[in-house]
Amino acid sequence: MAGDNPNYTTTEAGNPVASDEHALSVGQDGPIVMHDHYLMEQMAAFNREMIPDRQPHAKGSGAFGHFEVTHDVSQYTKAKFLQKGAKTDVVIRFSTVAGESGSPDTWRDPRGFAVKFYSDDGNFDMVGNNTPVFFVRDPMKFQHFIHSQKRRADNGLRDHDMQWDFWTLVPESAHQVTWLMGDRGIPATWRHMNGYSSHTYMWVNEDGERFWVKYHFKTDQGIKCMTQQQADEMAGTDADYHRRDLFEAIERGEYPTWTLKMQIMPFDDAKTYRINPFDLTKVWPHDDYPLIDVGKLTLDRNPTDFHSQIEQAAFEPNNMVPGTGLSPDKMLLARSISYADAHRARLGVNYKHIPVNTPKSPVHSYGQGGAMRIKHATDPVYAPNSKGGPKADPQRYPEDAVWSTDGQFVREAYALRPDDDDWSQAGALVRDVMDDAERERLVNNVVGHLSGGVTEPVLERAFEYWRNVDPDIGKRIEQGVRGQ
Ligand code: NDP
Repeated sequence: MAGDNPNYTTTEAGNPVASDEHALSVGQDGPIVMHDHYLMEQMAAFNREMIPDRQPHAKGSGAFGHFEVTHDVSQYTKAKFLQKGAKTDVVIRFSTVAGESGSPDTWRDPRGFAVKFYSDDGNFDMVGNNTPVFFVRDPMKFQHFIHSQKRRADNGLRDHDMQWDFWTLVPESAHQVTWLMGDRGIPATWRHMNGYSSHTYMWVNEDGERFWVKYHFKTDQGIKCMTQQQADEMAGTDADYHRRDLFEAIERGEYPTWTLKMQIMPFDDAKTYRINPFDLTKVWPHDDYPLIDVGKLTLDRNPTDFHSQIEQAAFEPNNMVPGTGLSPDKMLLARSISYADAHRARLGVNYKHIPVNTPKSPVHSYGQGGAMRIKHATDPVYAPNSKGGPKADPQRYPEDAVWSTDGQFVREAYALRPDDDDWSQAGALVRDVMDDAERERLVNNVVGHLSGGVTEPVLERAFEYWRNVDPDIGKRIEQGVRGQ
């Protein structure tokens, strides 16, 4: 009797099954029969186990934990989960960008750093990277950029020529490319890298005062990176090294932590700041806007089902709570639409019913229907209504994270501020932040990359690109590639 053994196999419908090992056949040596529905269920489910990769950020993993606010930032934001002492559950996902879901963790690439805070006001998602900047500042270029980093149409291969062709024709990429080719382009582990919002966001306090902000999650484990050679060797010996490292560290009880620090710009400063504070290819120099402490992020729980808890985790920058908001960064505004669309395409319209994506606070939406809906819709299913349905409450979420703007519809780049250019901050990174040894590794990394199939005229443009970042670095790179 099944009742004697509580651990008996069933079909997905809960029916006890007769064998884990043998298909139903006509006689011991005869053919299998089609009405072995249990075999059919297993074969059919297996054929449908895989879901599409994310496009991009396909390879990654994550963990659960909490975020605790250690410092009072109520003068800048009324967000409940950012008030001193608040402790909020989180899920985090780290990833590479260009590789597919089985690609090596140690390929040179930015890393995704996406955090979902299960706050009392619903989910707040900070969908950042381990770099403070990005390759492009206009969302029209994003799709083209990712195509250039992935695979060619004809041979299905990745192609350095294609990558440098794009980068050198889009000089706004220089800051991020310099960052990527430096030591931090290959973190030793996910535990040993920072996370940045990169974008500028808004915070609003109880008095309705607005601030522009950038999030910096600084690793408490210290920054550690891999050299190109170490990373290449690791790619060949353990392609899942970063995934393994995080899982095993948490299993050992070595819980990684990050300190959240913010840069905060008073609302009106943005109008006259010497660089466009919403340009995703630029940082705000720390001297202008120093970091202030906010809290601590701790990861202390591994997933138990990678697929349902991490592969199906859906992060979207439009998940915001009162006291937080977007900014005029065009990339951020595009992402606030594109991410939810990507999840609908990949996971289905009811992806927020998957437990990892479900808020821990109550949901009173008018959503109904759609594939794989598992939450019961209730009447009334329309608003306004006089049947006791939920009513939007402007007191709870005043539309105060806003800014004013003016102008005709145009397709143009941001207006330049006095200190806006594509090269200065990349140059500052090379000259002021990197030391001699790192500059040497940067040169070697770029020389190695350019020597991997980059052809004229792209090659000459690449030398000019690096001369624009820094004349000396440009000269050394050209000498390295030309073998002079
Ligand atoms: P600061 O001297 O105040 O800060 C330099 C920053 O660079 C530090 O945050 C440091 O991070 C980080 N850093 C150190 N080594 C590297 C590296 N190899 N690759 C990338 N980042 C590194 O300078 P500024 O704020 O005036 O910025 C100067 C340049 O530093 C910028 O152009 C930018 O490229 C880079 N940077 C600036 C950041 C910012 O938000 N202002 C953030 C990160 C980089 P850590 O403290 O962890 O060592």
